[in-house]
Amino acid sequence: MITLMLALSSATFAGSKAKPTPSQDQMPIPIEIPTTGVGHVGFDPVKNYSAKDLAALRKAEVLSNELLQSQCFSDFMIKRALIQTGGKTPMQVVEHLKTRNLTVPVTMYYSRKNVVGYRNVGSPIVYTNLKFHAGSTACARASNLTHEWSHVPDETTGIGYGHDYKATRQRPYSVPYSINAAFDKCCVCAPKSILDCTIVQ
Ligand SMILES: [Zn+2]
Repeated sequence: MITLMLALSSATFAGSKAKPTPSQDQMPIPIEIPTTGVGHVGFDPVKNYSAKDLAALRKAEVLSNELLQSQCFSDFMIKRALIQTGGKTPMQVVEHLKTRNLTVPVTMYYSRKNVVGYRNVGSPIVYTNLKFHAGSTACARASNLTHEWSHVPDETTGIGYGHDYKATRQRPYSVPYSINAAFDKCCVCAPKSILDCTIVQ
């Protein structure tokens, strides 16, 4: 099953700088340096989303996958003084994010508080606040969702990335916030468009 998913993912990203498809006898993937295969970011199942928000979420999912596989993302992360990586070098963090296969459930809710999205510790469900997500560009949604996705431990390595709870000076250099910064740099939308967004290669 895992092999099949990797093969499908490789096919999906055949146009990107994907590494050669792993042979079927390469399982299990080494924990520390997973350098084979192309991973996949998934958001599913989706609850309480309107048709319009669902379309934007699906676009955000595509952008998340394209960002992690992009040269723009690698170049940005490798130069960054990343913290709270669990001992990984920036290059190993990029390899891990590029190769992990993880789908997380997403639920829309409404709160007047200034929270874009959140997750409860120990649960993979990502809650997205309608107050911020409705009307947001696919880049902005993808940025928030991929931040939350990076927190969730994946099944292969059990690794998720954390950050300081408070807005400390070092927090922007955590992996989840660095993903947000990478989206700021590498994801662009046409003026006034929610869906017409692309990843800079
Ligand atoms: Zn976070």
